[in-house]
Amino acid sequence: MLQNVLEFFRNLPAKSCKECGEPISEQHECYGNTCDSCLDPR
Ligand SMILES: [Zn+2]
Repeated sequence: MLQNVLEFFRNLPAKSCKECGEPISEQHECYGNTCDSCLDPR
């Protein structure tokens, strides 16, 4: 069963920022679909 979970995550498409299309690492998942740059523009 554990292998099924690993397989599931491995097959997930890379998330990309809805603003600029940059790939988002999993640790930013809590921010939604926006990368750091677009999340905190200066
Ligand atoms: Zn972005």
